[in-house]
Amino acid sequence: QPVLAVVGRPNVGKSTLVNRLLGRREAVVQDTPGVTRDRVAYDALWSGRRFTVVDTGGWEPDAKGMQASITAQAERAMSAADVVLLVVDVQVGATEAEEAVAKVLRRSKRPVLLAANKVDDQRTLAEAAALWSLGLGEPQPVSATHGRGSGDLLDKVLEAFPTTPREEFAATGGPRRVALLGKPNVGKSSLLNRLVGEQRAVVDEAAGTTVDPVDSLVELDGEVWRFVDTAGLRKRVKTAQGTEYYASLRTKAAIEAAEVAIVLVDASEPLSEQDLRVISMVIEAGRALVIAYNKWDLVDDERRQKLNKEIDRQLVRARWAERVNISAETGRAVAKLAPSLRAALDSWDQRVSTGKINSWISDVVAAHPPPVRGGKQPKIMFATQAHPRPPTLVLFTTGFLEAGYRRFLERKFRETFGFVGSPVRISVRVRE
Ligand code: GDP
Repeated sequence: QPVLAVVGRPNVGKSTLVNRLLGRREAVVQDTPGVTRDRVAYDALWSGRRFTVVDTGGWEPDAKGMQASITAQAERAMSAADVVLLVVDVQVGATEAEEAVAKVLRRSKRPVLLAANKVDDQRTLAEAAALWSLGLGEPQPVSATHGRGSGDLLDKVLEAFPTTPREEFAATGGPRRVALLGKPNVGKSSLLNRLVGEQRAVVDEAAGTTVDPVDSLVELDGEVWRFVDTAGLRKRVKTAQGTEYYASLRTKAAIEAAEVAIVLVDASEPLSEQDLRVISMVIEAGRALVIAYNKWDLVDDERRQKLNKEIDRQLVRARWAERVNISAETGRAVAKLAPSLRAALDSWDQRVSTGKINSWISDVVAAHPPPVRGGKQPKIMFATQAHPRPPTLVLFTTGFLEAGYRRFLERKFRETFGFVGSPVRISVRVRE
């Protein structure tokens, strides 16, 4: 989710303009203060594109004077934003303060837009043109109080955002896509055939659905799911699964095609390297994860006690995964798969508003500040969830955050907003 930072002197109408930009019919406003007192982050939606608007603080002169404060503000905005919007009051014109900040912004590699605010009539429109002198390109005339020009300005903002490919997994519509994975002989075919067998009604020609022949449609708990890339499993042909290399390519392709993976683990044996590798592949691909202990009918009491601890210890990174104990052979607890898949996908799809994230993070940071590094206390300026699928949290900070602290934040984030069954990514953008 790209970030727009808005900078400007006090009283140029910056806040009114921000409200105007957010207050349109399409905008989603989160009226929660940001992490530090001098900035507030909001979610915005324009022409179907989501982005974050950061209202940077006013340029109140600090101990080092007005000039230093202005420059610092512009630099902070530049480092954290994809696009910077400088708001100038045309009725006052460009003051020394704007000259100073323009100088900083001209050096920036980020796109900069110039809003000429308080353009209420023809006369002021002419004055807006005088702002070309700032060297920031064409001044965009707007009237924050009347709303004039704000739509055009937002169009310009969207054009200026980087056109990075959307990282999140695109929603395809139709049944949710499930990959059924696990090492050879763990019971994939048995499980699929049981699931399909119990649902004779759901066949490939189900009510007008076109099915890629390599996939299987399966109805579980009143919902149809698409198990991807299952042709080999359905036929129950025990061709040599091929080399390890081939098996892992197949697994990779199935993960890519799926939104959520069920990794079958043989509960009657110790966890193997292969089990752990498949689980890691799912996490790295950013897909939701359900770990199903199969062959539960073969497991004795002693082993049952050990299983969860074993996976917690061996797979620290997947403690959050949904887990179910099943038997493809007897049909035990197979019905529990659907609720686990749903819970995992709910988290995978979940989007937390920027307002909620920022009030959460200010509480967390107040109670447990990031560890000091190199004599400096890193500050988290604000945070936003860049996208779901998988949920990705972006932190804008003044310094490096240690891996341990990032894991702590991830754990708190999961606890607070109920993320289970899905990887959560935390990305830190440090301002230079
Ligand atoms: P795949 O290679 O992962 O597709 O594994 P299969 O489905 O072919 O199963 C391998 C073997 O394990 C077969 O002999 C199955 O009958 C057996 N099997 C699968 N699931 C279970 C289970 O839950 N309990 C028991 N006891 N055996 C199972």
